Amino acid sequence: MKLLFKRSVVLFLLSSLLVFGIAAFIIQYLNHASAWVQHPTNKHLFNNGKLKASGSIYDRSGEILLEVKDGSTKFHQDKAVRTALMHAVGDLHNNVATGVKVAFGEHLIGWNLLNGVYRFRGKMGDSADLYLTLEGKLCATAYKALNGRKGAVGVYNYQTGEILCMVSSPSFDPANPPNIEGSPEQYEGVYLNRFLSSVYPPGSIFKLVTAAAALDNLPGLESKLYHCEGKMKIGADMVTCLREHGSVTFEQALAHSCNVAFAQISLELGASTLQKYANLAGFNSSLELDGIKTAIGKVNVINAADVELAWAGIGQYTNTANPLNFMAFVGAIANNGVLIPPKLIAENNSFLSRIQKKQILSAETAAKLKAMMRNNTKSVYGEHNFKNLELCAKSGTAEVGQGKRPHAWFAGFLARDDYPLAFVVLIENGGSGSGAAAAVAGTVLQAAVSSGN
Ligand SMILES: [Zn+2]
Repeated sequence: MKLLFKRSVVLFLLSSLLVFGIAAFIIQYLNHASAWVQHPTNKHLFNNGKLKASGSIYDRSGEILLEVKDGSTKFHQDKAVRTALMHAVGDLHNNVATGVKVAFGEHLIGWNLLNGVYRFRGKMGDSADLYLTLEGKLCATAYKALNGRKGAVGVYNYQTGEILCMVSSPSFDPANPPNIEGSPEQYEGVYLNRFLSSVYPPGSIFKLVTAAAALDNLPGLESKLYHCEGKMKIGADMVTCLREHGSVTFEQALAHSCNVAFAQISLELGASTLQKYANLAGFNSSLELDGIKTAIGKVNVINAADVELAWAGIGQYTNTANPLNFMAFVGAIANNGVLIPPKLIAENNSFLSRIQKKQILSAETAAKLKAMMRNNTKSVYGEHNFKNLELCAKSGTAEVGQGKRPHAWFAGFLARDDYPLAFVVLIENGGSGSGAAAAVAGTVLQAAVSSGN
């Protein structure tokens, strides 16, 4: 009996080990199979560490952005397009984690957890290609317009969600990678797609969020006058404007970006209302661009002192914004308050599940904001700078301290039925939003309209 008992115990321990071992393997497999398959030592797909073949990536005009054949990787034929799309497509060594080459690596090699490498076994068709919504030439125009300055440019169709332009600077030619370590300042954060993965203080573009809250919550707002003497004392602290705006209506306060008026409005709204509208506008949460998560822009005013709340309402304090997320917010203003999630992969790739659209503002509030943003262009930015675009916009010049130049923002959309496009431009330490960033927006939007997308 004793022997039998001992043997049973040993047998039980051994079989437990086997079960644990299998469970551990399955967990490892589920977590890492994708990386194992795509590892250059996998001889099934790689030859001497080079991928033998994969699906191709196309832009919306059908131009090839990436092709992998017989172990060689080819990017677009035009250097300007290659460079502008480096963050969208990805680089040779997969350092850009959000590039389509990495984010959709499984799809491109034709592998999934259930079927393994299905493409090369003739299963499920031969559909490893990917069609992007981006227009290569428009991206090249945007990258050129940034002219070496660090920043991001995005343009999308606010009715369909298709992103036409997504550019992050600095970039480099992925077909001829430079010595990045040799110029650390020039290539600072070069593998980061600033449009998707960075956040910056928003400055005055945030006044659109405060204005939305004000339109819904402050009775008599549109017939009221605000008085600006260039500064306003709050407790022992001060909120300042660049100049004395005098008596301004709510509409004029937005057009001239009067900090004093918006500080008063923020205090009238109170912390919880401003917080609610910041959350509705997409702050404190991430958008998913076909499964690629954006960096989270933050606004937290719940425990803010009065002066902090005032600064938060004009886009400073500890506020940060992600360019893509903010572009989606202005897109919702254009689209009667309904946010259509931006997308990068075209509809004919049906393997993706899409996020649903969301009403984030009432149609009435959206219409009022749209009219005010149209007025901004007519009365401040200048129609002549944006001929035939019917531009609705808001600039931002976000102070960053430490003696550095402010970040320049310009965000908005076209009030044109034939070109339902929203956009955002961000230039790091670019100076004035209505100067530097608005000029880039003008160039890119004119190109978008003339290219017929
Ligand atoms: Zn003012």
